[in-house]
Amino acid sequence: MRKHQFVHLHVHSDYSLMNGMCKLAKLAAMTKKYNMPAMALTDHGTIDGIKSFIENFQELGVKPIIGCEVYLMPTAYHAGQHNRLCHLTLLAKNYRGYKNLRKLVASATQHRLYCKPVIDKKLLANYSSGLIVLSGCIKGEISSLLLDERITEAKQALRYYLNIFGREKFYLELTDHGLSIQKKVNKGLIAFSKEFDIKVVATNDVHYVDKDDAKAQDLLRCIKNGITILDKSRYSFDSDEFYFKSGEELAIIFSSIPEAISNTLLIAEQCNISLPLVNEDIQQRSGSLNNYNSYQQFGGISLMKTIFKAMGKSPHAWSRYQKLTTKESYCEICDNLLDGNSSELEQITDKQIWIKEALYYANCLNGLNKSIKGSNI
Ligand SMILES: [Zn+2]
Ligand SMILES: [Zn+2]
Repeated sequence: MRKHQFVHLHVHSDYSLMNGMCKLAKLAAMTKKYNMPAMALTDHGTIDGIKSFIENFQELGVKPIIGCEVYLMPTAYHAGQHNRLCHLTLLAKNYRGYKNLRKLVASATQHRLYCKPVIDKKLLANYSSGLIVLSGCIKGEISSLLLDERITEAKQALRYYLNIFGREKFYLELTDHGLSIQKKVNKGLIAFSKEFDIKVVATNDVHYVDKDDAKAQDLLRCIKNGITILDKSRYSFDSDEFYFKSGEELAIIFSSIPEAISNTLLIAEQCNISLPLVNEDIQQRSGSLNNYNSYQQFGGISLMKTIFKAMGKSPHAWSRYQKLTTKESYCEICDNLLDGNSSELEQITDKQIWIKEALYYANCLNGLNKSIKGSNI
């Protein structure tokens, strides 16, 4: 094994329901640049990016690992405790795992909570075969419980995953973006790893390719959540470290626990999906694959709502807004989106557009009402 070799197993592309900015072609180029043999795509609540993922990665000879960061309700769907949603990282080990992942994601879209596609533990258990599970980011079930110092419940949760997936297919996920809460959680996860003899694995929960994109990612999330960057109470990453790091950078971050780095390769080696079968499957369901459009519609509508809210629902809001946009008229773009015209999607996901939109929105809320017309961001 090469020194410092690493595989990213937790990565969000711009298919991630307005919660990720990486372009798949750029991700493929980065894995090649850093000499990484594989990469897993784990978009939030969707696997609609896999066609483009497979195409881009196959072209460069990098193994694509199909995954998803699902939203999980620790209780049953109808248990009445709907206030808590956790994250969980799922990877398809083989074709069976891919089929199960697809079923989970499809079921999740039928059970939305806070607009998010959600699975419950019963469903996860039913479709668990062929999957490798990482315990999730700081919002994972075990991590959240550790953070709250609810150790007994954290152990209970851990036993659930262990029972379903076993030691070979369940890993405790360590993330470190320099946040103190992560250090606290990692300490607990490493202790659990020893107590229960479970392997740890390092991920970087990549949301954007370059460090400089952190600001744009922040704005994107604001738009998604209908809030402004001026909102002090909002949840923010508080870090610009969610970028596509090299193996060397991550080896330094996790130098005290090197097996967390080497285990990324161990997992990547185990994930061997039959791509001809997947490709065939994608072709068969090409119609529904265009869900991406509907997700982007959701984004478009969310953005429209944000803008109207910012403008106090003035009857002139829309026409005024149209005058202020510097590139394409946003109205026109949204209309096209609603018609499912995918050629406009590139413009919508362009980070400069997000910055312009968010700045404009922030200015409105701040009472500044500055025109961003002609601004050169
Ligand atoms: Zn997460
Ligand atoms: Zn994530």
